[in-house]
Amino acid sequence: LFSGRVDFLLSAPQLKFLPEPTVPEIAFCGRSNVGKSSLLNALTGRRSIARASVTPGRTQELNFFEVGEPTLFRLVDMPGYGFAKAPPAVVDKWKKLVKSYLRGRQVLHRNLVLIDSRHGIKEVDRDMMQMLDEAAVGYRVVLTKADKIKASELDAVIEKVADEVRKHPAAFPEMHVTSAEKGMGIPELRAAVLSDAGV
Ligand code: GDP
Repeated sequence: LFSGRVDFLLSAPQLKFLPEPTVPEIAFCGRSNVGKSSLLNALTGRRSIARASVTPGRTQELNFFEVGEPTLFRLVDMPGYGFAKAPPAVVDKWKKLVKSYLRGRQVLHRNLVLIDSRHGIKEVDRDMMQMLDEAAVGYRVVLTKADKIKASELDAVIEKVADEVRKHPAAFPEMHVTSAEKGMGIPELRAAVLSDAGV
């Protein structure tokens, strides 16, 4: 399916620009530089779908991609969070947009929360997970860049993250361990996304 059509649809800087809620949506979020673009590209087998829309100034918008012909579902690239230097007004605007999207979007079937294997869960990730818990949007936790650390360190991170994930009501207890670079965990995650989208 992902080998079929995947097209950038639009960027929504505000709720009023969201596309009509006609098909299921699967959203991706994570700290800036977590490897979100790389993961989206690996999942879709494209070189640069997730980059196409990421022009400066667009990083605070919800980016929608359509999959299938006719469209079966959408991938939603959520703005990266955890930009320590961002002015409070920018962070507030981001939170408002994301919260409203999460709460009001009936077609949002699943969220994927990306965590860098090297860093584990950070405070901003906890905030995001809490927002998802409160909005009752089920989510999968995805460890990224698993190739970047030693197997023994990875095992320790998996255990630590899993312990915390279990405490979040809307999180799936099982996690995904991936490397966009090496293709690790990508087929499994792709299958999960398709299943979440109901296709
Ligand atoms: P984004 O800001 O979350 O979209 O992150 P990017 O996808 O642009 O990735 C940030 C950096 O991490 C880039 O230099 C990528 O090449 C690198 N990266 C992303 N995924 C992987 C991975 O699975 N393995 C390795 N080794 N590097 C990765």
